[in-house]
This record gives sequence, structure tokens and C-alpha cells, in this order.
Amino acid sequence: MKFDSIVIGGGVAGLSCAIRCAEAGLKTAVVAAGQSALHFSSGSVDVLSRLPNGEAVAAPFDAFTTLAEQSPHHPYSKLGVAASRDAIAWYQNMMEKCGVYLSEQADEKNHYRVTPMGTFRSTWLSQQTVHQFPLHDLSQGLTNVALVTVDGFRDFQPQLAADNLAKLPQFANVSIKTAAVELPDFEKMQRNPCEFRSIDISRVLRDETKLHAFAKSMIQQVGKADLVILPAIFGNGDGAATIKLLEGLTGFSICEIPTMPPSLLGIRLEEAMKSHFKKLGGLILAGDEVISGQFDGDKLTHIFTRNHEDIPLSADHFLMANGSFFSKGLAAHRESIEEPVFGLDMAENSHRDHWYQSQFFAKQSHPFMKMGVSCNEHFQPSIKGQTISNLYCAGAILAHYDPVQEGSGSGVAISTGHYVAEQMIARSQAVQISDSQQKQERTTA
Ligand SMILES: Cc1cc2nc3c(=O)[nH]c(=O)nc-3n(C[C@H](O)[C@H](O)[C@H](O)COP(=O)(O)OP(=O)(O)OC[C@H]3O[C@@H](n4cnc5c(N)ncnc54)[C@H](O)[C@@H]3O)c2cc1C
Repeated sequence: MKFDSIVIGGGVAGLSCAIRCAEAGLKTAVVAAGQSALHFSSGSVDVLSRLPNGEAVAAPFDAFTTLAEQSPHHPYSKLGVAASRDAIAWYQNMMEKCGVYLSEQADEKNHYRVTPMGTFRSTWLSQQTVHQFPLHDLSQGLTNVALVTVDGFRDFQPQLAADNLAKLPQFANVSIKTAAVELPDFEKMQRNPCEFRSIDISRVLRDETKLHAFAKSMIQQVGKADLVILPAIFGNGDGAATIKLLEGLTGFSICEIPTMPPSLLGIRLEEAMKSHFKKLGGLILAGDEVISGQFDGDKLTHIFTRNHEDIPLSADHFLMANGSFFSKGLAAHRESIEEPVFGLDMAENSHRDHWYQSQFFAKQSHPFMKMGVSCNEHFQPSIKGQTISNLYCAGAILAHYDPVQEGSGSGVAISTGHYVAEQMIARSQAVQISDSQQKQERTTA
């Protein structure tokens, strides 16, 4: 099978690249082995919340210059502010076409989102059903907040969240209450506790009669509130629409917070991207895994997958977006770290004593979090010093940044995926122009 571009990995980096390529008319395939980090994520897009030295960042794009001084090899330092901004704006527009509205604060600053623990994490873009707490005034406009769960649901504990919120001085004058709402069919679901996850609840609430019963119980349990915070228990495709319906039925202003995995807010982003990519004509080889590749000089010519071992896939360009240790894009051995598919050169391979900080909750990030594949300024990797000219890397497989400590995970994944796609598109167009010029010259001759 021959493609213009093949993307290895179906997370936010791989899908961003694949969608951009498909938009530009490139015949594109994605090989996705398993679940991406989005299944564990809040579904908000972090761009930059903290500098490598631990300093908090309010305006992420304004901080790129300081970031480049502290971390010259950081993916954002290679991209620059304009390319990163363009990529994030493209992502917002593209997701809007899929019905997922991601927005930022008008003052170009990060906002806080509340976590299931009742603590706050700063981020750049949040979905329309997530309440944005401004950095400068956390409890702006709030006097009565209700943290509501579904009776018997184990993946969100509202009392724990309420206790943590109540400790904050900004919430001193806000009344915080908790409630548990009964779910129709709860008795049946309780027979098997493994079936009482967010995704199972979302199936029940898709039924409008049950949603009405849920709304009625919610009005009784909550009473008065100017913001009702619910765990994300509404479906992937129609979650936002169901919340609108529930707001109409109850009269409450409702927002969602992510739960323990599976996180419907993150899955919503992945499902939207996958279906958009397929609509654009893209192919997803789901549940398949790239196991090796064939090289000719400085070019990757074919890849081999577990399910199509004897049918190689070939393409003009390839992207490695198969994540970090979490997604098996990187593997740790006793004394070394490696990229297991092609054996790409790693940025650093120090002794294991230098992989972590002595304090687990250290202010500085653990060095292993910044380990990854070494790439040039075009995000092309190398093997034993030889740059592979038609292979690129994007997202969590890249070295020199810590998505968790910096709060930059999806931002780096989207920007590097988009940037790589633009290079693939430009190279394909250059080949097309040169082919048609040669054809014209032959006709003229
Ligand atoms: C628990 C957790 C929570 C997070 N929460 C947030 C958040 O709220 N906001 C935020 O902005 N960032 C968050 N991040 C960071 C962010 O989610 C990641 O940095 C980003 O999603 C990485 O995307 P990726 O596409 O590079 O990799 P991944 O999402 O890891 O995807 C890699 C994909 O490649 C596949 N794969 C691996 N090997 C192969 C192979 N050989 N062949 C084919 N496919 C392969 C994997 O199965 C997976 O589907 C979080 C990260 C984690 C771990």
C-alpha cells in the first residue's frame, strides 16, 4: 500500500498532522496501536503554564522568549511563537468544524480549570462545557457552587473536592455544597461495579426519559446554585448537546470536570479528530502497531506492522508520533533508554542515577520526563548520526520538554504535528511542480 504520508501514532500529535495533510489533499494513513494519552487527559489544551525553572506563566506566548533562553532545544524554541500560534488557531478552527468549541480568555492569559480533587490547573483552551476560572479572580461571579455526583459513582468524590476548594481564601465567601443525584437504572448497573464508569453512565443518560428523571432528582438535591459542577459523564459525540438540554431542564448553569480515566472530555477530542480525518478521506489502521522499517540511504521507504507483516506500507513522508514511555513510543531498560521501532538517536542517555530527582515532588522536573528522540530544527531524527530526510517526529516522543511540569502537553503535540504537516505539504507540492515542469519541457521539446 502506497501513501503520500503515513503517521505512526493516533494521539493528538499524530492526528493533528494527519488531518492537516488530508486537508491539503495528501493521501494519508494513521497507524494507531492503542489508546492515546487523551483518554487520561482533561480535554483542555495546555500551551505553557510553567517555565523550566519552575516560574508560573500567565501569558504563554509572551513567555516564549524567556523559554528559549532557559531551554534553547525546547520544541517551542525551534518552532517560534508565530508557528505555534498558527497551529493552535488552526486546531481551534478545525475542532469547531467538528462541533467542539475550544476557547481561551480574552486577555491572552491562561485560565484555571478545576480538577476532580478540587485543586486548580492552569491551561490555555477549554471546551465549551468547562468553566474557565480567571487567573486574577478565581471565584469571579460565584456565590453558590454545587459539586454534584451520581449516587454510587466512584470516580469523582465531591466532598474531597469541596473540602479542598473551601481551603482557598478566594472561596471564603462562596457557599460550596455537595449532592449525589440518583440515576435511573442504578440498581441494574450496581450489580457489576466495573460497569459503573463515566462511559456507562453516558449511555444511560443518552435516553431522554432517563435524562428527565435525572434532571428532576438534580433539582431536588441541589436547590439553589449559580454553578453546578458535574463529573464528565456525558457522551463523546453528543456530550455538549446533552448538557445544554440538562441546563434547559434544570435551569442551572452546568459545567463538567474530568474524571478518573476513561476521561470523556479527552476522548471527545480524539473521537472528533478521528471522524473528521476519516471524512477527509484518511485511513486509520486501528489496533495495529509499526514494528520495523526499511531504509534506503537517508530515506525510510517502507514500514512493517504487526497485522500486515508481509504487506509493507510505503510513503513519501513518515511521522513518528507514538508518544513517550506512557504510550510505548520510548522504552526504558536497566541502563539505557531507546526508541524501540527504528532505534532513532536519543537526545541524552545518561546513567540511570541521573534519570530522576531525589525528591519525588521536586520543583524541577524529573530528567526522564525530558528524555526523547533527538531532532534537528525541522524535527527530523537521525540514526547513528545520519539524518533521515523523509522521517519526522512530533509530540511526546520529542526530547527537551516536560509536558506535565510545564503544562505544555497538547500545545507542543499540536504545534509540532501541524508544523511537520506543513513541511510534508510543501515538499509534495514542490515535487508536483517539478514533475509538471518536466512534463511541459518534454512536450515542448
Ligand atoms: C495522564 C496524562 C494526563 C494528561 N493531561 C493533559 C491535559 O489535561 N492537557 C494537556 O494539554 N496535556 C495533558 N497531558 C499531556 C498530553 O496529553 C500529551 O503530551 C499528548 O497527548 C501527547 O500526545 P502524542 O500524540 O504525542 O502521544 P500519545 O497521546 O501518547 O499517543 C501516542 C499514540 O501512539 C501509539 N503508538 C505507540 N507505539 C506505536 C507503534 N509502534 N505503532 C503504532 N502506534 C503506536 C499509542 O498507542 C498512542 O495511541 C497529559 C498526559 C498524561 C500522561
